[in-house]
Amino acid sequence: MSEFSLALNDDQLQIQSWIHDFAVNVIRPAAHEWDEREEFPWPIVQEAANIGLYGVDFLLNAFSDSSGLTLPVAIEELFWGDAGIGMAIMGSALAAAGISGNGTPEQAIEWVPQCYGTADKIQLGAFCVSEPDAGSDVSSLRTKAVYDEAKDEWVINGTKAWITNGGIADVHVVVATVDPTLGSRGQASFVVPPGTKGLSQGQKYLKHGIRASHTSEVILDDVRVPGRCLLGGKEKLDAKLARARERLTTGEKQPAMATFEATRPAVGAQALGIARAAYEYSLEYAKERHAFGKPIIMNQAIAFKLANMALEIDASRLLIWRAAWLGRNGGFKNAEGSMSKYKASEVAVRVTEEAIQILGGYGYTREYPVERWHRDAKIHTIFEGTSEIQQLVIARAISGLRIE
Ligand SMILES: Cc1cc2nc3c(=O)[nH]c(=O)nc-3n(C[C@H](O)[C@H](O)[C@H](O)COP(=O)(O)OP(=O)(O)OC[C@H]3O[C@@H](n4cnc5c(N)ncnc54)[C@H](O)[C@@H]3O)c2cc1C
Repeated sequence: MSEFSLALNDDQLQIQSWIHDFAVNVIRPAAHEWDEREEFPWPIVQEAANIGLYGVDFLLNAFSDSSGLTLPVAIEELFWGDAGIGMAIMGSALAAAGISGNGTPEQAIEWVPQCYGTADKIQLGAFCVSEPDAGSDVSSLRTKAVYDEAKDEWVINGTKAWITNGGIADVHVVVATVDPTLGSRGQASFVVPPGTKGLSQGQKYLKHGIRASHTSEVILDDVRVPGRCLLGGKEKLDAKLARARERLTTGEKQPAMATFEATRPAVGAQALGIARAAYEYSLEYAKERHAFGKPIIMNQAIAFKLANMALEIDASRLLIWRAAWLGRNGGFKNAEGSMSKYKASEVAVRVTEEAIQILGGYGYTREYPVERWHRDAKIHTIFEGTSEIQQLVIARAISGLRIE
């Protein structure tokens, strides 16, 4: 168990400044172009792979840090650079986390590196849970996986919605229902290996923000995967289903919607990076912009906005670091992961809006980055659990009751 400390160690400081330099020199200069093009920024991801920032080694390094702080520190810098490009670089981590969280060590060794490929041949991963009729309510997934015992294969059918890297990924991790009567306890996760027949990209969504990140439907039409692609293995799944059926007969309730608790501080750190970018930019602007014969920051109306932005950003970072540390050291008690994601994402929306206000007319134009940051911030109150779902998770954790 590591002590909680706000002092980053030498490794963490070095990673922070390494990613900051990449964000300044490579990501920021490219951000506007890829937002306008609304395409996956392959050349930038390639540059990230060339320096080892996009790749399985970096992910393993960040995950092996016992304080838990390396990952949020790295993500904050990346998203300070740009959130769309940041998501393009981080999107494969969702699939990697799905595999290592649900799979056996052998499955993680086989599939996680394939979510990244190598610097010579980049690969992508996608984590496919949401469906057109099941976003927050993950217990009602309709994508179905049926076991074909004779061939030891699973046959998967369904449609997934809003999938980051969907259809362009090499490895798709798909959550499907095996027994719909059991809700989320009747679900299992499958790896769909590169080139598997029957998996295709549906519509590509045109989005409000993070436009450099690719988001699509994924269609699964009689997709057949070998038995070894069931994450965790058949024996574990059968035992889980048997336990769930038992609970169904005894009427025991399902636990709170806390499945994604561990990944939430990382999502909070994404929002934090955007908020910090907007705060720093508008602070400098407010010192330089003159109105009525003085810098606009000399008005309390502007200076107090900036004071509150600084305060809320620091409060968010403290919640994120606490949650990231707890995730590695003893676990969450009162949904601290959800608290950090909820706070940081709401702060990012508010701070980026205030940044537009401080820049006035310039802030509203696409010539300046603050309107993009505002658009990018908004996704964080929606994906990986909406703000309303975070409040539900926190309310259930503090009360011990199944608040609806
Ligand atoms: C850009 C982008 C990328 C994404 N990437 C991925 C991905 O890689 N993989 C993936 O699986 N999914 C992904 N998603 C999907 C995302 O996780 C869902 O959109 C999200 O969980 C919300 O689900 P929904 O859109 O169906 O909204 P709904 O669940 O329909 O919610 C609509 C509104 O109702 C509210 N609401 C719903 N239930 C309750 C309740 N019980 N109490 C109070 N309020 C409630 C919500 O908070 C929200 O305000 C992505 C989405 C986007 C937009």
